[in-house]
Amino acid sequence: MGEVSVRFLGSGDAFGSGGRFQTCIYVRSEGTRFLIDCGASSLVAMKRFGVDPSLIDTILLTHLHGDHFGGLPFFILDARYVSGREKPLVVAGPPGLETRINEAMEVLYPGSVREEPGFVLEFVELTEGEVARVGALAVTPYGVVHPSGAPSYALRVECGEKVVAYSGDTEWTDALIPTARGADLFICECNFFEKGVPNHLDYQTLTDHREELECRRLVLTHMSDEMLRRIENLDAEGAEDGKSFVL
Ligand SMILES: [Zn+2]
Ligand SMILES: [Zn+2]
Repeated sequence: MGEVSVRFLGSGDAFGSGGRFQTCIYVRSEGTRFLIDCGASSLVAMKRFGVDPSLIDTILLTHLHGDHFGGLPFFILDARYVSGREKPLVVAGPPGLETRINEAMEVLYPGSVREEPGFVLEFVELTEGEVARVGALAVTPYGVVHPSGAPSYALRVECGEKVVAYSGDTEWTDALIPTARGADLFICECNFFEKGVPNHLDYQTLTDHREELECRRLVLTHMSDEMLRRIENLDAEGAEDGKSFVL
């Protein structure tokens, strides 16, 4: 009872490293189905892995970079014209998300924002440090270090009795400690192996802080080609497109 499954539909970075899809994490419980992030390639990834977009209740966004939210215009157009979506869709993320998503739609498909969606589309702005009830979920955003034109968050998501947490993109910040504490699964970006690149995490820094992350299971994602080459030989678990976890 109360089982939650987590599947990576996209575990890649912005640059298609390893031929992976951009960030898209599909979570399913008895009560709801939702995505955490919806990178530009996510509609393709959903169809590749047999996930019906019209059954998704909620999309949670960590930050407003294209490899994390750029799939929204395609998702919304698919809902209007292909999947025949009827149920409401809630998109929750950093302040300003509605404007950024509408701007992205207008650039990619001029006139598309003014068209009737045919379903209720609701945007919810998440405030740093405040628990938000989003459908069946309790979502806590923690501010992280990653400039994206709006606040960037790590998200801690309570789904029934399980907790899924995700760093989003960030360099090390102590905000990751409460994000991960007690989580059944903590998904953490690990873009690089060696220290030195700002605004992202690397394996060496993560190793320095590993004991502060009091999660039940840690999975690394958003890896560059260099990090992907090394992951097999490291004492760490890496995400892969299509890989599932049952919590
Ligand atoms: Zn990213
Ligand atoms: Zn980013």
